[in-house]
Amino acid sequence: MRAPVLASSAVTAAVLMGAGCASGSMPSPQAALTDAAPQVSVTRQGDHLSVDYRFGRDAVVWAFMDSALEADTRQPWRPRQWTVQTPGVVMERRGHYDIIRSTDGGPVPREVRFRVKPQAVDLEAEYPTLLFSNGAVALPTRQLDVFALPSAEAAQDVPDDLNRVRLDGGPSRVTWRDDSGPVLFNGHRRDDLTTTDERSYVLLGDATVTPGQGLSTVIDPNLPPWIGQEIRDFAPHVGQFYRDRLGAPGSGGDTPIVMVAWNGPTEQMTSMGGSVLPGLIVMAFEGRGVMTPQPEILERSRWFIGHEGAHFWLGQTVRYQFADEAWITEGGADLMAVRALKSLDANYDARAELQSEVDDCTDLAKRPVAQAGARGEHRAYYACGAVFALAAEGAQRQRTGGDWFDFLKPLLRQPDGVLSREEWLSALTRVSRDPSLRGDVERLLDQGAADPSAVIARLFQRTGVAFRMVGGRVVLS
Ligand SMILES: [Zn+2]
Repeated sequence: MRAPVLASSAVTAAVLMGAGCASGSMPSPQAALTDAAPQVSVTRQGDHLSVDYRFGRDAVVWAFMDSALEADTRQPWRPRQWTVQTPGVVMERRGHYDIIRSTDGGPVPREVRFRVKPQAVDLEAEYPTLLFSNGAVALPTRQLDVFALPSAEAAQDVPDDLNRVRLDGGPSRVTWRDDSGPVLFNGHRRDDLTTTDERSYVLLGDATVTPGQGLSTVIDPNLPPWIGQEIRDFAPHVGQFYRDRLGAPGSGGDTPIVMVAWNGPTEQMTSMGGSVLPGLIVMAFEGRGVMTPQPEILERSRWFIGHEGAHFWLGQTVRYQFADEAWITEGGADLMAVRALKSLDANYDARAELQSEVDDCTDLAKRPVAQAGARGEHRAYYACGAVFALAAEGAQRQRTGGDWFDFLKPLLRQPDGVLSREEWLSALTRVSRDPSLRGDVERLLDQGAADPSAVIARLFQRTGVAFRMVGGRVVLS
């Protein structure tokens, strides 16, 4: 769920906890980086950015690969933050994409300038801009990628999942500058930086960088100190737990970095969100409600680290193939987080967390789970993915006495780095020796069910996941 509103019994303020998570949604266009790749320079000048494109060739339309919708409004984010400065060029929304074109119908000029007023908004399955309270800004490196189209109409036909299409475009060559000093990338300051196909964040402005054993932090200087302390204390233990169970993650030996932005003590708000990239977890906190330590925030921030940290394995060591297979990585990361948090804190209520997965999946699986993203129901990937993972874990327990990590470990060894739906489902059949399980999972993925509880109950029954039926509802024991 992007921003579930948790009822808070003690206070009247709404508690917003965005678990917005972009991970594994990494289209890998096959187009090689050529001399024709656009050259982009991004320069921070105080509270705004200047973004200059220099295109190496003519195109009638350039479309932005990252054209996600804002999670709250379901409106495109870029037209609200970017203003075209070059005369005769307009930006507009066509289909799933923000595009630019010439007003005269000819090719887009080779040089186009934008003025950007960065804003921190939660995006649907895409990496958001991070704003720091001191004016620093962190941008996803691949936010500037574009592809060419023959006409504005052609943009209407491009599907939202770019993994499924061949694009005339690829990574831009981006040079990052900050008028006030060096930029921060991979935990290090540099006077100038050029990125191409790296997936990370570049931070323009001041932050508190703390190198550490097993984890480095890049933290907004005004973040309430207890949050930073908690992250530095807790995150390395989660990482070690996963390492013990699954081995080192595939994405290299660099020390992981947690980058945390603080959006200020907004009244009547308690908000946390973020996402994960190779070797980097980004988080953003906001609201009066997180100024002082509270058990609920503590648990949510731990949950967040558990889930996002799990993506270094399930999401990066292996990724999914298509966006409608996000249940593999999101639900899988959720169950990893539940098991990790329980092992690190005996008081953690794993059953309650898993019950909410079952409940949400029950609500959302009336319609095809695989297509949930297109409906804006990304929560289905987490909830139903966790339900499927629970069944797989049950099958593993029946077979070997093992758990979710034992089911997962062999699946992380994929030569192509992709854990496909087929590979996941085949493993379920191999471990359970019961092909009917796969049939039920596929039914929820592709068709949904009039009564999802009945299907979930059947899955749990055959895999030994303890539950009872209460008024037609699956209640975990
Ligand atoms: Zn995730």
